[in-house]
Amino acid sequence: MLTFNNRTALVTGAGRGIGKAIAETLAKQGVTVICVSKSADSCGATAAAIIAAGGKAKALAVDVADGAAIAKASEELLREFPTIDILVNNAGITRDGLLFRMSETDWNDVISTNLTSCFHWTKLIGRPMTRARWGRIVNIASVSGIMGNAGQANYSAAKAGMIGLTKTLAREFAGRSVTVNAVAPGFIKTDMTTEFVNNPEVSAKILEAVPLKRFGEAADIANITAYLCSEEASYITGQVFSVDGGMAM
Ligand code: NAP
Repeated sequence: MLTFNNRTALVTGAGRGIGKAIAETLAKQGVTVICVSKSADSCGATAAAIIAAGGKAKALAVDVADGAAIAKASEELLREFPTIDILVNNAGITRDGLLFRMSETDWNDVISTNLTSCFHWTKLIGRPMTRARWGRIVNIASVSGIMGNAGQANYSAAKAGMIGLTKTLAREFAGRSVTVNAVAPGFIKTDMTTEFVNNPEVSAKILEAVPLKRFGEAADIANITAYLCSEEASYITGQVFSVDGGMAM
């Protein structure tokens, strides 16, 4: 068991995949988890599963691409929860295509959902966290933001942006004992990667670049994220942890 002292966490993209695994892992450690996703059904199902397992959770549908919606949600949440101690910026989308075929809409949708959302949530939830002089922020980036990936100009730019944001905010918040770290997953089996993972030819090609020769599980990301959110990780900030089977060595 890690030490959490009854903390409260907000996890975006908690309806499915990696975010759901992070929410459930934190809840198992006694953390109250605010599960955010775009659809009410999706975050509602995660919160219901946590509660059914004896944990504490609340579901909130917020479109993280909409700064005004984040502001409204944060205001309501901070009335209900005096401090939100842990923020996991995990919600993300892909809109892949080679640059010359990429529309401005696909560029903007990915930047606003994956990167600008982190700016808004961190500004709003981070302020009371710094006042409380304890906090943990984990940004779920990607191997694509470290190595680049043909067909993902929008996504890799957003994920590299998250890494820069992580390092800068680690410096800005360090004096308040708020740590800011990033986790950079490789290929993890979720809805986001189903079409690659289930295509034998494509998956064989991908696995050529993965030294461990397998796809990762959502739990692989959830476990390190939970550690980074715990008391035990108090001396770690501004770091990017690759969890990618060795891809980005
Ligand atoms: P996923 O299975 O597609 O789930 C994405 C989650 O994000 C869903 O809960 C979705 O909400 C939520 N979301 C998407 N757009 C949103 C919006 N505008 N507002 C609110 N919530 C929104 O994805 P995943 O594979 O778990 O990925 C999670 C994170 O890890 C992403 O940031 C992704 O870029 C990153 N990542 C994943 C991989 C991988 O291989 N899977 C690799 C590297 C990085 P709904 O449930 O309501 O649709």
